[in-house]
Amino acid sequence: MSRFWSPLVHRLTPYVPGEQPKLTKLVKLNTNENPYPPSPIAIAALRGELADGGDSLRLYPDPEADRLKQAIAAHFARFTIDTGQVFVGNGSDEVLAHAFMALLQHDQPVLFPDITYSFYPVYCALYGIAYRTVPLGDDFSLQVDDYRPPNGGIVLANPNAPTGRLLRLADVQRLLAGNPDSVVVVDEAYVDFGGETAVALVGQHANLLVVQTLSKSHALAGLRVGYAIGQCELIAALARVKNSFNSYPLDRLAIAGAVAALADEEHFTSTRQAIMRSREGLSRALGELAFEVLPSAANFIFARHPQHDAAALAARLRQRGIIVRHFALPRIDQYLRISIGTDEQCAVLVNALREMLYG
Ligand code: PMP
Repeated sequence: MSRFWSPLVHRLTPYVPGEQPKLTKLVKLNTNENPYPPSPIAIAALRGELADGGDSLRLYPDPEADRLKQAIAAHFARFTIDTGQVFVGNGSDEVLAHAFMALLQHDQPVLFPDITYSFYPVYCALYGIAYRTVPLGDDFSLQVDDYRPPNGGIVLANPNAPTGRLLRLADVQRLLAGNPDSVVVVDEAYVDFGGETAVALVGQHANLLVVQTLSKSHALAGLRVGYAIGQCELIAALARVKNSFNSYPLDRLAIAGAVAALADEEHFTSTRQAIMRSREGLSRALGELAFEVLPSAANFIFARHPQHDAAALAARLRQRGIIVRHFALPRIDQYLRISIGTDEQCAVLVNALREMLYG
């Protein structure tokens, strides 16, 4: 608190990201990072960007990051996306922030589920956007019929976070068709781990904005690259906000690395398949320890043990050098969100839980 702070800053309750501990020997399963390294081709491109001894860093990057937009359009070539339908930003968090400001600030409140990515209400507070949360079902499934006009827009994470539950593409389409006058933002941070992307619907629905990231399925959380795909009218709104905020959200290294990562389909496919396989193995192993595990289409699982308090379990795991995420929030305070690690990391977790609970 300070007398120098603006009234708005006094009122903010910022988002709290998962811990990034300084200790290195931990089994870190708390922030849904990819356990595998990024594409070696992407790493070579980062080095290549500095091949002139770093001289190019004297110059500003391309403010439009056109090469990256082309690479993203090519990544979605099966849906015939052109670069005018692509927006890029400094992580999908920044893209989402611009979407809230550019497209969701209207008279009616924005709708999103009661259990979802906890950054959404933070953006609302930052930009003074009214919102209403819509309860998910008892099994944390989203009921499309609960989202009806009038509203100032709809935001959903699909697969949802932190539950991992997937909404089928047909249901996303029903949501879009039922709200033709509202923008529907579909945050697909985790879609590559078992979902079907709504990019397939962009051509048919002028109100759809799909947001994705290279942080998870491309293992580039540290590079900070996110993007949105939608019809040109929506993309133009995001560009207006971006160009009123920061002309160069993506630096030269981020652009070079992201372009190369998107071209390396083989690495992308093999690592996400490994993560999906490990997810099924971990879910089975936790089930054998009597955990209830929600079906997940993401690179994490959401699980509770009927006899053991989740916060206490998280604390005991931490003492053993294993970090998972616990949210002290209504409805989910008995769950742990566990990012999918390598098979070795998953085994360390399962063995620790077995010893703690049954040893
Ligand atoms: N959306 C969801 C649902 C997320 O969980 C995250 C990661 N915390 C993000 C968006 C943001 O990811 P990034 O900014 O790294 O692209």
